Amino acid sequence: MQANNEIRGERPNAVDKTVLERIKAAVGPKGFTMEPSEIEPHCQSWRDNWHGWVPMVVKPANVEEVAAVVAICADSGTPIVPQGGNTGLTGGSQPHADGTEIIISTSRMNKVREIDVLNNTMAVEAGCILADLQAAASDADRLFPLSLAAEGSCQIGGNLSTNAGGTQVLRYGNARNLVLGLEVVLPDGRIWDGLRGLRKDNTGYDLKQLFIGAEGTLGMITAAVLKLFPKPAEIQTALVAVPDPKAALALLSRATECVGEQVTAFELIQRRPIDFVLQHVPGMSDPFAEVHPWYVLMEVSGQGVPDSLREPVEALLGDGLAAGEVLDAVLAANRAQGEALWKIRESIPEAQNHEGQSVKHDVSVPISRIAEFLERADRLLEAAYPGVRCVAFGHVGDGNMHYNPVQPLAGDGEKDGVDFAAEYGAINRIVHDLITELNGSISAEHGLGRLRRDEAKRYKSDVEVDLMRTVKEALDPSNIMNPGKVV
Ligand SMILES: Cc1cc2nc3c(=O)[nH]c(=O)nc-3n(C[C@H](O)[C@H](O)[C@H](O)COP(=O)(O)OP(=O)(O)OC[C@H]3O[C@@H](n4cnc5c(N)ncnc54)[C@H](O)[C@@H]3O)c2cc1C
Repeated sequence: MQANNEIRGERPNAVDKTVLERIKAAVGPKGFTMEPSEIEPHCQSWRDNWHGWVPMVVKPANVEEVAAVVAICADSGTPIVPQGGNTGLTGGSQPHADGTEIIISTSRMNKVREIDVLNNTMAVEAGCILADLQAAASDADRLFPLSLAAEGSCQIGGNLSTNAGGTQVLRYGNARNLVLGLEVVLPDGRIWDGLRGLRKDNTGYDLKQLFIGAEGTLGMITAAVLKLFPKPAEIQTALVAVPDPKAALALLSRATECVGEQVTAFELIQRRPIDFVLQHVPGMSDPFAEVHPWYVLMEVSGQGVPDSLREPVEALLGDGLAAGEVLDAVLAANRAQGEALWKIRESIPEAQNHEGQSVKHDVSVPISRIAEFLERADRLLEAAYPGVRCVAFGHVGDGNMHYNPVQPLAGDGEKDGVDFAAEYGAINRIVHDLITELNGSISAEHGLGRLRRDEAKRYKSDVEVDLMRTVKEALDPSNIMNPGKVV
């Protein structure tokens, strides 16, 4: 875990008392807390590597209350940290430790305002939990395809603000592709009502795109119109053992040629993280009798009659076997078996936590260069850190890998866990330099927050950094929206 230099446990209150009183009056007794035990969970991150403090967490009930609070903050120059489910991984949703900021949490704004089945859209408030939105869409016989392991806690406002990716991007695109309209409270407290459910609207700049992926630095998203899709009538899930990443990419190409865009997910998993899951997560077992070096978790879904995709999937796996791309495969017989295969993949982040210090990377390269990236990154790190245990898994169908080298085992190599933690920046540098050489991105889906802000400046051109600053200064000249994050 990367160390954060802010001191844990201090509880400063540097927000003017009259400002806090004005906020209390604007949201009423249910709309805020100043109770330290209630504030605490809002101030630390999911991985427990970012801690800060605010004197008040504000929980407005509706957009008007958000606007009133933001206007008070604009007027008094009080910085705001917008917060959804607080599952973000880059320190974007935690406050700084000096007690000068307030958090605005969207947790009470959790209504589905409307589902328009004919238009294939739903209008929802920012605080809706992602899993609840998937369920609401399903109840209307539709699919909302955004899916990630944090879906039981993360909120759609946070998903849009980080332009979340997840497991279904290959087929449906990331969060940005799933939005038709937004409602946003601007840094001066005005409300922009862009809640349009239109697939065509060429009336100037596409303003909603500014706020998607802005990580709360340009305004507070309070509601969105989201795209819905037909609910798949059939889903085939297979865990496929493959010899190496090159074979996985050949299999992806074969799968898309065979069943087209019905390939919904294509995840590449190295053996080492599977070992971690088997060792640390209760109730897990290896679906194969033999150990294999790499695996692909593939999902194919469609609208046809039940099981109509089974034969094509079996055929493509058979052809892959004959071509040497596939070593073995388990094709789930039903949804429960499919979900059990997904559980292996989704348990990796938790299982990895038991193995000591790891250095996280959320990177992307053109799909055609994934194998080269993995090969070269392993070689560079093994040379620099003897005994390092390289770990790779991710959404290979989108060119996005989570590449998280773990500290050597005790007595194996020169560096113990403590030293390895001190190498965090140096390891990032090796991986990110390589990613940049391969024309990739140092943050594929988690955003920049505080973790990657300065790193991004190193790799972006001056023109790009300048454009980002120009946008920030135009919308938030007083820098009250999530200061110190992204730009
Ligand atoms: C186990 C696990 C698995 C994960 N898997 C994935 C994955 O596969 N793909 C992926 O992309 N991410 C993944 N993440 C990261 C995280 O879940 C996503 O970034 C998620 O979209 C964050 O949503 P949230 O509601 O928790 O946002 P938060 O963490 O609360 O906030 C994230 C950022 O958005 C800002 N923000 C939040 N709400 C608003 C709002 N209403 N208006 C303006 N700004 C706002 C915050 O200030 C912060 O900068 C994972 C996280 C965990 C813990």
